[in-house]
Amino acid sequence: CLSLIDVCKSYGSIHVLDGVSLAMERKEFIAFLGPSGSGKSTLLRIIAGLETADSGEVWLDGTRIDRLAPGDRGVALVFQQYALYPHMTVRENMAFGLRNAKVPANEITDRIETVAATLEIDRLLDRKPGQLSGGQRQRVAIGRAIVKAPKLFLLDEPLSNLDAALRNRTRVELSQLRQRVDASVIMVTHDQAEAMTLADRIVVMNDRRIQQIGTPMDIYSRPANRFVARFVGSPA
Ligand code: ATP
Ligand code: MG
Repeated sequence: CLSLIDVCKSYGSIHVLDGVSLAMERKEFIAFLGPSGSGKSTLLRIIAGLETADSGEVWLDGTRIDRLAPGDRGVALVFQQYALYPHMTVRENMAFGLRNAKVPANEITDRIETVAATLEIDRLLDRKPGQLSGGQRQRVAIGRAIVKAPKLFLLDEPLSNLDAALRNRTRVELSQLRQRVDASVIMVTHDQAEAMTLADRIVVMNDRRIQQIGTPMDIYSRPANRFVARFVGSPA
C-alpha cells in the first residue's frame, strides 16, 4: 500500500507541502481534512502523477511510483472537477482506461455494466458529459475510477455536488469499495461527519504539514494540538 516519505512541494515562493510522510495500511480508508489551501489536492495530484514533488518519495506496494507515468501507477484520482472527456459517451469514458490497459472487450463491457448499475448511471451510458447533471457527472467520474480496479483510490471531495439521497448511496458504495475491489482509499472532504463515519484514520493538514494522523476517536478526543482541537471542534 501507499507510503509517502518527506514529500515537499512549492510553487515558486508559495510553499505548499513541507515534509509530508504517511504510511497506509492495506485496504485502509483515510480521510484528509484541512482548511482550504492546505495542500490536500496538491498531495493527491502528486500521488496520482499529475504534479511532481520537489523532493520526497511515493511508494505503492513496494514499488517507487513517483517517476512512473500516471497511467502506470495503479492509482485512480477522482477530482473536484470531474474531468470527463467531453466528446466521448459515458461508456467510452469508462472504457478508455481499460482499453489502454488491454483489458478484453467483453470484460470491459461486463465491468462497466456492473459498476453503472450500482451507481445508477446505467441509463446514461450512451450520453455525453454535456448532457448530464453535475451529480451524474460526478458519479460517472467515480464509476470510471472503479472500473479500472486500481490499488489506490484518490477521491477529492467526490460527494460535494450530490443531493442528500445520492450522497448517502454513493457513500455506502465508497465504504464497500475496499471489500469489493481490494483497494485502499484516500478521500479529501470538508465534511467532518463524513470523515468520521467512513474513515479508519483521519489526516488533518494545515500550514504545509500533517498536524495529526489518527482514528476518528483519537482526533476528536485526543487532538495533537490546538489547531486540530479547534478545527474538529473537539471538547478537549
Ligand atoms: P481546497 O480545500 O480549497 O480544495 P486544498 O487543500 O486542496 O484546498 P491545494 O489546491 O492543494 O489546496 O492548494 C494548496 C496551495 O497551493 C494553495 O495556496 C494554492 O493556491 C496553491 N496552488 C495549487 N496549485 C497551484 C499551481 N498550479 N500554481 C500555483 N499555486 C498553486
Ligand atoms: Mg482541494
